This record gives sequence, structure tokens and C-alpha cells, in this order.
Amino acid sequence: MIIAIDGPAGAGKSTVAKILAKKLGYLHLNTGAMYRAITLKALQNGVDLDDEDALVNLAKNSLIEFRDGGSRIILDGNDVSKEIKTPDIDKNISIVVKHPRLRDIMVDQQRKIGEKGNIVSEGRDITTVVFPDAEVKIYLDASLEERAKRRLGELKRKGYNLNIEQVQNETARRDESDRTREYGALRLSEDAIPIDTTNLTIDEVVQKILEIVEKRKL
Ligand code: C5P
Repeated sequence: MIIAIDGPAGAGKSTVAKILAKKLGYLHLNTGAMYRAITLKALQNGVDLDDEDALVNLAKNSLIEFRDGGSRIILDGNDVSKEIKTPDIDKNISIVVKHPRLRDIMVDQQRKIGEKGNIVSEGRDITTVVFPDAEVKIYLDASLEERAKRRLGELKRKGYNLNIEQVQNETARRDESDRTREYGALRLSEDAIPIDTTNLTIDEVVQKILEIVEKRKL
């Protein structure tokens, strides 16, 4: 079974997908982490983020792997799980993910991982582009205020000293960019089930999705 989850930043996709994958014994395919890894490598190598050819070349010569059920992301043999979640990557990633030919390469890699089945995949274009025929399609959302609050908490735990306004502005900027790009934009597909997580606990969201999964299995 493929469980596909889309939604904006801070909607709870990664947290929920990780728990779901663990409960079901599936792989957690975090596609945002893949785009983050390429952005990290581009920044480390001084690649111009507007240069699609250079990014395509970089992606073709990179090996992205998931370990421990998807909780660790390995780029060219190195664990980059922590390095990819910095504000610097947040700031630069929107430019990288706009390039259609780069997205095509990433989508191919994601589908290859999905061929084996039994995955919980999350991102922005999973229900629409990567796995439009997934057995379970979910769209997670939450208010901008709540999503920024969650991201701020996450950043504070990591030692970053930002305020709620900065994080809210950054989240709104990424939303706008994700929703309006020409290729692989974030949108609610007709057959995806929307879940508003603003007033739900993580466990409640997981439970709701598990119920949907069970129904599909029948
Ligand atoms: O999910 P996460 O916030 O880690 O994703 C980082 C960025 O990667 C997002 O802001 C989004 O622009 C991009 N992304 C994407 N397509 C995906 C997953 C993530 O464009 N399937």
C-alpha cells in the first residue's frame, strides 16, 4: 500500500508520517528531505541556485538514501539528517524546487523507492504527481499561526533564536511559493481527504489516518 500525504509546511506531515510508518512497518519517504539534501549540496558546492543545468547535473551525481525506516537521510554516504533542517536551507530551498527538470529527476527517484510498496510518502506533490494512484491520499493543513508556532518550537529546541513573526513570515513566503509555482505546485486534489490539524493532537491525526487505512484494506 502507498499512503500519500501532502500539505503546507508545519501541517504535521513529517511527524505524523514517521509515526504511521513505524506503526505499520512501512518506509517513511520524506520527499522534502530529498529536496533539502540537494539544496544543501548545492550550497556547499557554491552552485548557482538559478542554474537548472548545474542542479540537474548535481542531482544526477548524488546518491540519496533513507535508513532506519526513513528516519535518517544519507547523502553520498554521509548522514545529513540534521544539516538539512536549518533556517538557511528553509530560505534557499524555494529557488531550487522550482526547476522542472530537477523535479523530474527527484520524482523518478521517489517512484523507484515506491515500487517496493508499503511506504508513507509526504511532500507537496505526492497525491497529485508522484503517486496519484496511491491507495490512501491525505491533505494535512492547519492555520498559518499554528504552523508557525510548531516550526518555532522545533527551531528553539535546536537552539535557534528566532521570534514568531520571523517564522510566520518565512512560513507564509514558502506557502506562497509552493502554491504558485508552475510545476509540482501544492494543491488539494479532488480525491484526497483533507484533515485540519489545527486543534488536533498528533495522536488524533495518526488515529484518523489509521482508520482511513483500515477502511481501504477491507
Ligand atoms: O516538507 P519540507 O518543509 O521539509 O520541504 C522543504 C521544501 O521542499 C518545501 O518548502 C517545498 O518547497 C519543497 N518540497 C517540494 N516538493 C515536495 C516536498 C517538498 O517542492 N514533494
